[in-house]
Amino acid sequence: MTCRLKLNQLQSHLQGVEAFDTPKVLLEQYPTSANIAACMLHTMQTSFHDLEDRQVADLGCGCGVLSIGALMLGAHHVKGFEIDPEAGQIYMTNMAEFDMDASDFELIECDVTAMALASDEGQHVYAKAFDTVIMNPPFGTKHNKGIDMTFVQQGLAMAKTAVYSLHKTATREHILKKARDWGVKAEVLAELRYDLPATYKHHKKPSVDIQVDFIRFSFDRPRE
Ligand code: SAH
Repeated sequence: MTCRLKLNQLQSHLQGVEAFDTPKVLLEQYPTSANIAACMLHTMQTSFHDLEDRQVADLGCGCGVLSIGALMLGAHHVKGFEIDPEAGQIYMTNMAEFDMDASDFELIECDVTAMALASDEGQHVYAKAFDTVIMNPPFGTKHNKGIDMTFVQQGLAMAKTAVYSLHKTATREHILKKARDWGVKAEVLAELRYDLPATYKHHKKPSVDIQVDFIRFSFDRPRE
C-alpha cells in the first residue's frame, strides 16, 4: 500500500524528535528510537493501511515520536495520552518544532490504566473512538508487572481496527495466550533489538539490548 515517505526518510525526520530531559524510571520512560519508530509506522501503513486518513490514539505518548511519525504518514488526527506533564510539555514542543497543525493532534493528560473508570456508567470514555491505537507501553519490568497488557486492553476497547504495541520477547507466550483469551488475533510482525539505556538496569554497561516483539492485535470479526 502507498506510503508518503520512504522508510529511511521517515527515520531521518524522526531523529529530530527531542527525548525526555530526565527520564523517570518508575514511569519506564524510554523513548522509541527513530529507527524502531520508523519501522513500526512504515509497516502499519504499507502492510495494513492503518495510518493514512485514520483516527489514531498513542497511549503513553511520551515525547511524541510515534504521534509525529503517524501524522507524517498522513494520519487524520492523533490523540496522545500521557500521565507525566513534563513529558507532555516536550510532546507539545516537538509538535511545534515539526510544524504540526494544532487541529491535527491533541494531548490528554491521564493515567491510561484508569481510563475506563473515568466515565459515568463505567463504560470506556473512548470506546471505539479510534481506528488505530499505537503504543510503546511501559514494559512492566518491576513494580508494575502486567501494565503493558493493561495498556493493550485499553487500546482494544478504544480501537475499531487494530492495536500496535511492543513487548518483551521473553513474555511472548503469555501475551499470545492473553490475546486468545480475549478473542483477539495477535501477530508478531517483527522481533527488534531495543537499546535500553543503563539508567533502567542495575548494570555497569552504558546500555543493554533487549529483544522486543512488535505485535499487531486485531479483531477476527469487525466489532460494533
Ligand atoms: N511512546 C513514547 C514513550 C514510551 S515510554 C515513545 O515511543 O517514545 C512509556 C511512556 O508511558 C512514558 O512517557 C511514560 O511517562 C508513560 N506512562 C507510564 N505509565 C503511564 C500511565 N499509567 N498512563 C499514561 N502514561 C504512562
